Amino acid sequence: MNEHLKNDSANIGYLLNIIKEQGTDYLNSIEERVTSVINNNVSEKQELPESGLGTEEVLQIFNKKFEPIMVGSGGPRYWGFVTGGATPASVAGDWLATVYDQNTQSVTGQGDISASIEIETIQLLLKLLQLPESFLGGFVSGATMSNFTCLAVGRQWLGKEQGRDIAKEGISGAAKILTATPHSSSIKSLSLLGLGSSNIIKIKTEEGNREAIHIQDLEENILKLDGEPFILISSGGTVNTVDFDDFKAISRLKEKYNFWWHIDAAFGGFAACSETHHHLVEGWEYADSITVDCHKWLNVPYESAVFLIKEQYKILQVETFQNSNAPYLGDPLENFSYLNFLPENSRRLKALPAWFSLMAYGKEGYQEIVDNNIAWAKQFGQLIENSLDFKLLAPVRLNTVCFTLKDDAKQDAVGRFLEKLNNTGKVFMTPTFYNQHKGVRAAFVNWMTSEKDIRQVFDLMNEIITEIK
Ligand SMILES: *Cc1c(COP(=O)(O)O)cnc(C)c1O
Repeated sequence: MNEHLKNDSANIGYLLNIIKEQGTDYLNSIEERVTSVINNNVSEKQELPESGLGTEEVLQIFNKKFEPIMVGSGGPRYWGFVTGGATPASVAGDWLATVYDQNTQSVTGQGDISASIEIETIQLLLKLLQLPESFLGGFVSGATMSNFTCLAVGRQWLGKEQGRDIAKEGISGAAKILTATPHSSSIKSLSLLGLGSSNIIKIKTEEGNREAIHIQDLEENILKLDGEPFILISSGGTVNTVDFDDFKAISRLKEKYNFWWHIDAAFGGFAACSETHHHLVEGWEYADSITVDCHKWLNVPYESAVFLIKEQYKILQVETFQNSNAPYLGDPLENFSYLNFLPENSRRLKALPAWFSLMAYGKEGYQEIVDNNIAWAKQFGQLIENSLDFKLLAPVRLNTVCFTLKDDAKQDAVGRFLEKLNNTGKVFMTPTFYNQHKGVRAAFVNWMTSEKDIRQVFDLMNEIITEIK
């Protein structure tokens, strides 16, 4: 055995301890961590060592080379994209997922039963999101893979409606996809699935600064299809303005017309946890498939998302994802195994961090995280609304604030403003373009964010805007 491997193995307690110490220091000081890469000079590339260096020395190299440029993206003021943090319980679960290193596939004991943890976690999540148990779910690496998985089963459904088995025969002939404001990852999934992103029929959005699908235009387009089955991709929280399609109206259409209804509720689905905002997702339980990201508002470490697909489509799902030429893996419909229900075969026990966090903080814990983030977004939005230099590009509907400079003649300054703001290292936001305006997005999805962060960042914004005037 390699000397270093032997030595590491003999000293595993010591090694895990120094990692624990370092992790504790990091988490305890995450509020002070810079939120931007100020100096991106990753020094020269390492050579592959001949006989290795051992973990402790490698840690020293990491600490010298990479650790100083790690940004506090899990901290309270990283408001770019839609970036969640990691709760203590989820970190605990994540560490254990690594230590136990299961290959999560089966619940019936083909060498491993860790999938029962996954099934239990899905049940907890359905409860949290107040969704019925008629959904069968699983963990994938992110909402992109969840959209992919849901749309893959939608594709199989579409084929069946046209009398074909697309998983076997491949795609031929045009598929019709209707949508208004899809996330880029759904477009990517359509490309990957061979459905062709240019087969999208773009539906209008509702009038009055909205990104939600125009229900009447949707129905008119459905009528034009003359009974042809199609896939509808709807939004449960668009990224710019967190607008929601009207799920109740869509569920009424679903009674009249034949389509696969997919909802991308990557982060917006957590509106279900909030008494004041639950109405945004009303009716979503009638969807055929739903995407929910866990590394966003559930605040578990990357990579974690779930797909939820109605159990009635189990056969379609197996047709899509089965390992059909591997008889040793068993009959997919008899012995439930994730192996035949999603894209990956071997997979990490992704459910464990979510299981830990759901159990540790429960319904109330998450309700509070969600309600607080909504409150910070509204408060931040109010400060912007009342300011002389900034204005909102859309009302704050949930947890994201989309804004720009008040003076439309200063559109060129938006980029400079954001660059300067991010360069302070105190907060991170991302650029966007909305309603013919360059804008900035701040998304609130971290359990640590507090009122003082809102104040601090708004003060900083005012300092910067004075500098660039
Ligand atoms: C973030 C996001 C995605 C993509 O999720 P990943 O986890 O990055 O793969 C898809 N849809 C929506 C609405 C999102 O916010």
